[in-house]
Amino acid sequence: MDAVPKDFLDVPAQELITVLPLPTLFDLPGRDPAPLFVSVLLHGNEDTGLLAAQEVLRRYRDRELPRRMLLFVGNVAAAAAGVRTLETQLDYNRAWPGTLQPATPEADLMRRLYDNVATQRPFASIDIHNNTGLSPHYGCLNRLAAADLHLARLFSRTVVYFEKPLGVQSIAMARLCPAVTVECGAVGAHSATAHAVEFVEACLALSHFPEHAPQATDVDLLRTFAVVKVPPEASISVDGSDADIQLRTDIDHLNFSPLAAGTSFGSVNEQNGITLQVEANIDRGADGTVAEYFSHDGGDIRLIEPAIPAMLTRVINAIRLDCLGYLMHRIDMTGRRIED
Ligand SMILES: [Zn+2]
Repeated sequence: MDAVPKDFLDVPAQELITVLPLPTLFDLPGRDPAPLFVSVLLHGNEDTGLLAAQEVLRRYRDRELPRRMLLFVGNVAAAAAGVRTLETQLDYNRAWPGTLQPATPEADLMRRLYDNVATQRPFASIDIHNNTGLSPHYGCLNRLAAADLHLARLFSRTVVYFEKPLGVQSIAMARLCPAVTVECGAVGAHSATAHAVEFVEACLALSHFPEHAPQATDVDLLRTFAVVKVPPEASISVDGSDADIQLRTDIDHLNFSPLAAGTSFGSVNEQNGITLQVEANIDRGADGTVAEYFSHDGGDIRLIEPAIPAMLTRVINAIRLDCLGYLMHRIDMTGRRIED
């Protein structure tokens, strides 16, 4: 569509489906014709991106955008249900070109969208998300190129480089232009929307990317080296109750804290032989083997080496569907680990 419907600017995410019955791409004109691609609501219960897009468009209701904007409003059906993804769907942020499940309707949608956006020669791409809120606002990128680092730095000095999971928007879009995913903390926080609005406006106003990477002292650059999963057969608790894996009740408070070797994550039922499962989250390079991150001696889950966790959550459904969280280390601008 080349304009937003009249009621789009004020409708909340859960009622959006009454205005937009389907995932929709808007092509909104601006002074600079090279478009900024913005995706929102790839996860139906993360509404900060929608709120930010609505606010930006309200501000420019009577004047031209400084740059043309391609706005993709994603999972309106999941938004109506107040969930990340419907049980019948593939996650809208695991369905982009490169996905492990290309023969799905969601992958077909993202393939057609990607092909369409590619022909428009985008200037940059941003994908707006929320998470548990017990993290700083941070940007994620998939290339350590100067332009991508500048784009992420426009949002936050905390920047996470990752190569997996496959099928995410920013990995696909990074083939076309500088691309970042931004994590805006908790749903419902006014500060999240304000920060996302500021970021979208800064991207629209940017005329070009500087040639040189930002100063190393200007960016806290981290890389996800490992993903932590829980065996599907294991019972899990986050409230201290009895289970095969009893996570510490404040597990989500550990996010983005540099943890020393010996830090406890909780306990396991040793008799069942159940342990946390750690998989490498890097695609290539000399450091392709994953370290032994945890010991389970005496039923205590403890870190063996220092690490910085991200995305640790107390939401058991999210742990089962996705993962418990990621383990990161600081890196330099070439992606190499800096010893803590
Ligand atoms: Zn999300």
